[in-house]
Amino acid sequence: MFNKILIANRGEIACRVMESARKMGVKTVAVYSDADAHAKHVAMADMAVHIGGPAPADSYLRGDVIIQAALDSGAQAIHPGYGFLSENPDFVDAVEAAGLVFIGPSADAIRKMGLKDAAKALMEEAKVPVVPGYHGKNQDPEHLSGAADAIGYPVLIKAVAGGGGKGMRLVEKPSEFMDALKSAQGEAQTAFGNPDVLIEKYIQQPRHIELQVFGDGEKAVHLFERDCSLQRRHQKVIEEAPAPGMTPEMRAAMGAAAVRAAEAINYKGAGTIEFIVDGSDGLRTDGFWFMEMNTRLQVEHPVSEAITGVDLVEWQLRVASGEGLPKSQDELTITGHAFEARIYAEDVPKGFLPATGTLSHLDFPDSARIDSGVRAGDTISPWYDPMIAKLIVHAPTRSIALKQLETALRHTDVAGTVTNVSFLSLLSAQEDFVKGDVDTGLIARHIEDLSVAPVACSKARSVAAVTALGLMPAPDRAPAPSLVLWTPLTHAVSLVHHEEQIDARVTVNGTGEYLVDLGEVQHTVRFGEGAWWVDQTKVQARTARHGDDLTVFWGNGYRFHVVDPLEREDEAAAGGNLIAAPMPGLVKAVFAKAGQTVAQGDRLAILEAMKMEHSLLAARDGVVAEVLASEGQQVEEGAALIRLEDEDEAAA
Ligand code: ADP
Ligand code: ADP
Ligand code: MG
Repeated sequence: MFNKILIANRGEIACRVMESARKMGVKTVAVYSDADAHAKHVAMADMAVHIGGPAPADSYLRGDVIIQAALDSGAQAIHPGYGFLSENPDFVDAVEAAGLVFIGPSADAIRKMGLKDAAKALMEEAKVPVVPGYHGKNQDPEHLSGAADAIGYPVLIKAVAGGGGKGMRLVEKPSEFMDALKSAQGEAQTAFGNPDVLIEKYIQQPRHIELQVFGDGEKAVHLFERDCSLQRRHQKVIEEAPAPGMTPEMRAAMGAAAVRAAEAINYKGAGTIEFIVDGSDGLRTDGFWFMEMNTRLQVEHPVSEAITGVDLVEWQLRVASGEGLPKSQDELTITGHAFEARIYAEDVPKGFLPATGTLSHLDFPDSARIDSGVRAGDTISPWYDPMIAKLIVHAPTRSIALKQLETALRHTDVAGTVTNVSFLSLLSAQEDFVKGDVDTGLIARHIEDLSVAPVACSKARSVAAVTALGLMPAPDRAPAPSLVLWTPLTHAVSLVHHEEQIDARVTVNGTGEYLVDLGEVQHTVRFGEGAWWVDQTKVQARTARHGDDLTVFWGNGYRFHVVDPLEREDEAAAGGNLIAAPMPGLVKAVFAKAGQTVAQGDRLAILEAMKMEHSLLAARDGVVAEVLASEGQQVEEGAALIRLEDEDEAAA
């Protein structure tokens, strides 16, 4: 076994690889860009080497710099993770030329599967069924359009160098073919520097079912299938293993085809054979076709680990260091059912727009496996993909695992950025998905229902109002402030939720219970025994507040903006003579003296209220007429603290 390996990646996959290496006693070397100096993967590693600027081209794609870092740090092997250099055969050649081990397949195997057209031709030879279509060399538009006619519409145009759904176009009818071809070629040229395409029959009601394979360079085994049919724009969203509705015959046929595919290229290490499956009439052994092979560890590998009990990264390290396959095909079995959901910082109602932000609050349920490259306080930067975590559940049956998935998502508390968590939890309860009735069009058909921004009910609003006032300790904060002992009975607070202003009046109602009046409805709210209670009922809400950003984690999670009372008081008092307490509190400091000239915006006093210090500012230029409050004094809301001379008085 290696003593030390370098991980040529970042984020969750770098951390994931280090977990297994550490467990095996193998030392780890991280590499990092300027943007990642304080990242989790750097903190986790035994050593970390700086490799350049934040843009991937200046760091994580710099094969030469990474190989030098491995040599300098005494690493014997390089794990590429996924993405970046993981499927770059020239990098593999360079790693080996430097006398290091590449933890993955040979450069030759990667080259053979690198282009979809050549891979399909090779798979046909190996008697693996491929999607009917044209994958020849002739790229003449007339010829390609003729091929599409021969295949029969609808057809799919795919970039031969494609990946991540790029350079792919569904064409419904011949009249749309030429435009679609042009745009697919343009996108392929930009993304991959190769405009070539192939044409495929578009499979109706398609399911994406892929086989995890593992080879030793000669023989291969498979670790069963994953269903990745829940996709948005050809990108996987939730994956599961095994596939719903899978039969022993279908599994045997697909498994054998996958092993043939891997052995045809003397595959070494972890890989995935992706098949497209006709799901229009159950699963039939003559209804699956090879799409492509991913010659690396896949994002969704944890669901296969869950059902087989195999640590795939451990296997990668063992096979790369010269061991044979740790298990034979008969020693591999399936236990239970697993799901993975990909949690991203993205704005779902705004068309899944990638987001950035600092994760002011990050809390995951203990019931799930969490593979994450970030911690609370870390930043989702614009430089890399905005993944926050992968959440993986495993249970004896599909229906229990799906319930666990939904519950775990509802207990995934992220604040500081928008996320797709609500979308994922709505999806995990979607009727067809629950029935196992999946195909790649499911999300698109239900996108309206799945991407609604969750609107807080009056109970959640009441909890938000009490949290905003700081009257209740947040569950993760110190207990009750003494403030409540002397504060007057009613507080006003304003919140903004989805552009709607919510004005609440909160009244102390006996011991520790608050009556929240929202206008049309009222609720009683209490925090006790570690939980929120609404109308005497214990609820599952949690709250987090960071500045004026407040989140109630309950159901799908609701974000509020707390309107600073000073913002309003400032407006109300503008031009006025009196500086008044915007809320009840303790006068911490007074900076103004009678006769003093002040300018608009000068800080005249500090009021401590709601566990925070508030600066009281001069609303206009003027002269202080009198100071009505002294330091250490407790004042009521609206109490006059400082009076300015009348404007004409001052002018006189
Ligand atoms: P595919 O969609 O090709 O079947 P995956 O779902 O495993 O494969 O991953 C999608 C692609 O997104 C990967 O091939 C990889 O190039 C890219 N990718 C995802 N996450 C990262 C990351 N953290 N760093 C670099 N690339 C990534
Ligand atoms: P990429 O390299 O971008 O991952 P794939 O060839 O793996 O490209 O296809 C990505 C997705 O597109 C598949 O998961 C599937 O949802 C859809 N798809 C691909 N080929 C077909 C096809 N022939 N018919 C229907 N859908 C397809
Ligand atoms: Mg793919």
